[in-house]
Amino acid sequence: MSEELDQYTRELLDHLYDGRGEQDPEPEERTRIDSLLAAAGQGERTAPIVELFRALQDLRDRQGIGADRFGIAREHLAALARRHQEIDEHMVSVGGRVGRALAIVQQANARVDEYLQRKDVEAPSGIELWDRVLENQQRIRTSLGMDDAAWNSFAGQIRHAIGSVEELAGLIDLPAAAVADIARVTKNYRMRLTPYYTSLIMPGEINDPVMLQSVPTGEMVDNAGIEIPPVAADHSPARLVDQFYPRVVTIKSTNMCAMYCTHCLRIAHIGRKDRVFSKDAYSEALDYIRANPRIRDVLITGGDALVLPNSMLRWLLEQLDSIDHVRLKRLGTRVPVTAPMRIDSELLDILEASNDIKPLRVVTQINTAREITPVSQQAFRDIARRVFAVLNQAVLLRGINDSRVKMWKLCETIQEACVRPYYIFNCSYRNPQFAHFRVPVEKGRDIVESMYGNIVGDAIPRYIATAGGKIPMHRSNVVGRDGNDLILRKPWNGEEVRYPDADADVYGESNFSFARYRS
Ligand SMILES: *Cc1c(COP(=O)(O)O)cnc(C)c1O
Ligand code: SF4
Repeated sequence: MSEELDQYTRELLDHLYDGRGEQDPEPEERTRIDSLLAAAGQGERTAPIVELFRALQDLRDRQGIGADRFGIAREHLAALARRHQEIDEHMVSVGGRVGRALAIVQQANARVDEYLQRKDVEAPSGIELWDRVLENQQRIRTSLGMDDAAWNSFAGQIRHAIGSVEELAGLIDLPAAAVADIARVTKNYRMRLTPYYTSLIMPGEINDPVMLQSVPTGEMVDNAGIEIPPVAADHSPARLVDQFYPRVVTIKSTNMCAMYCTHCLRIAHIGRKDRVFSKDAYSEALDYIRANPRIRDVLITGGDALVLPNSMLRWLLEQLDSIDHVRLKRLGTRVPVTAPMRIDSELLDILEASNDIKPLRVVTQINTAREITPVSQQAFRDIARRVFAVLNQAVLLRGINDSRVKMWKLCETIQEACVRPYYIFNCSYRNPQFAHFRVPVEKGRDIVESMYGNIVGDAIPRYIATAGGKIPMHRSNVVGRDGNDLILRKPWNGEEVRYPDADADVYGESNFSFARYRS
């Protein structure tokens, strides 16, 4: 009788009955196989059959005991194999499952095992560290004399924001030399941490990734090099407007942020002196957009767009929604990370109302899993329920996210907060102030490419260098061509595969698909 089994199952059976199993099994092995055999013959489940075949394969491989040594006829196993294929909805054979799929999965598992072991140790999130963050909050609140109302409101966070090194030194342990140096640097560069953001700094951590982002160091003035400021004249066709692309513009709606980043691209302009822009300024920006029907997408950035009062945000969004050719909007903000209390129901209602008219995305910047706490996670999830998408633009920063473990963890953690990894920016060469944060491109590529095949697809960001526009930095996976075949390299293990390209003649035929109905 023909076995009617696929190649993998035949190979597996050949292996189990190759006659080279000279050993006899121990009595307890015999008992185990007998009971597996009995279980495999019953019921409507594939697992007992798989378990039997795996056990037999294991005995054959490790101890040289063939299936015949248990007195099992080959035809009996073949019948069980046929049974497996009958039960399985997709007709997967037991040979395919045991001989191929399980081995392939096992091999792939090895690629992430190291990450799984290291992620919570090397890159703990603010959720995992929450107990310690709460201790920090207790200490900071007492020291600043903040009650619940003050802590839980954006106004309270801004009113109590830490702007001097003396204040900061009272809240986190800073060595004396650091205090002196920060005092020197903050003459030139604004420092401001919300009490909440300060509570994410872990005492005793030398290069704390939150502190690195928010507390300026001596390097900012000592680094060699000359700042190449953005040439406003090149990119600002109208008051408050920046334009790199024909269909997307930004409105730089404020120069203020809740927290001032040490790696800010606009460090020369942002946060220098708080300024409230006039309605005239916004009107001129809107006039420019209104007069340019190519413009489809408008980003309200800053500074930080959510530093604007709700009334101003509502007005700006309404203005944009009233322009016919503007089809989408974005808001640029780090506030859900630096002062998540800002995300209240009034703001959420404004976002939802605008999103109902034309899709609104919120674009944020999260650079380390540490910045996702139960509070910021909730803020992001609340926003995500009300708008089209929440996107993250991380900056690749030394000591903050420049390893596979840290970046994978960041991307997975923000995704669980309903934030989609969108870009990873290479840290700009234009500012000597933060040259010490720069990471080599090759390293950045390794980090981003290592995600393919190991992280779900919609958690993988694009790696970008900004140089008069955004330039994608992905190394090509196309390593060669042979005739019409491309030679592609799998980013996760370097394996090369042949990939036939489309037939150019077929592609060149003008008459295809629906066009064929016309001729
Ligand atoms: C980043 C940026 C944009 C938008 O870029 P996307 O690739 O569409 O996200 C537009 N204008 C300016 C000035 C920008 O910096
Ligand atoms: S939030 Fe953005 S604009 Fe504000 S300081 Fe940070 S990087 Fe600069």
